[in-house]
Amino acid sequence: MPYQHLNEHGEIIALPVGKVVCVGRNYAAHARELGNAVPETPILFLKPSTALVPLQPAFAIPAGRGECHHETEISVLIGRPLSGVVSEGEVRAAIAGIGVGLDLTLRDVQNVLKAKGHPWEIAKAFDGAAPMGRFLAPSCFPELSAIRVGLQVNGELRQHGSSADMITGIIDLLCHIAGIFTLCPGDIVMTGTPEGVAALHEGDVLTLSLDDRRWMTQVARD
Ligand code: ZN
Repeated sequence: MPYQHLNEHGEIIALPVGKVVCVGRNYAAHARELGNAVPETPILFLKPSTALVPLQPAFAIPAGRGECHHETEISVLIGRPLSGVVSEGEVRAAIAGIGVGLDLTLRDVQNVLKAKGHPWEIAKAFDGAAPMGRFLAPSCFPELSAIRVGLQVNGELRQHGSSADMITGIIDLLCHIAGIFTLCPGDIVMTGTPEGVAALHEGDVLTLSLDDRRWMTQVARD
């Protein structure tokens, strides 16, 4: 099934499917768990629209390419153009939805790329690298700086965090990104992962959460 943005009822949101802008190391504890320094400015990278796949009812991970890690991330759907110097009000008005997605990462591949000083795309921008869930109306999250995000795998809590723990919060992050990459309607910003990243395996059952809302999915079997 091709990816389209869906609202919480599973209805198609009338926005094109654009690029995904991701931020690395936006939670200090996650930077530490991978032995990375906490950055002074956001580390940004892109996933193309071809990386997006529906989160539910199941998604696939690449086979034979080493460990594929889950990074569970609060994800922001953009509804209006944001470019250059933008105000907080413009940023808030441009948010069309808030959801949760997975920044799938081929960790073994990424470690080799990092060691060589090469870009990360092969590890993070492959087809299917961004399973994306449904988007809730921004009004569901009046406090963008206190959204809880979590992941259980096979009933075990793997990741939990809050946007309160972000090094760069959602509004400041969108302002920063708009000064570098124009955000277009239908683009998505993935805001970084809390600690607890680990490998996924075929058949794993996942429960992703934002505050008290939960969505189940699984890693497809071949
Ligand atoms: Zn990530």
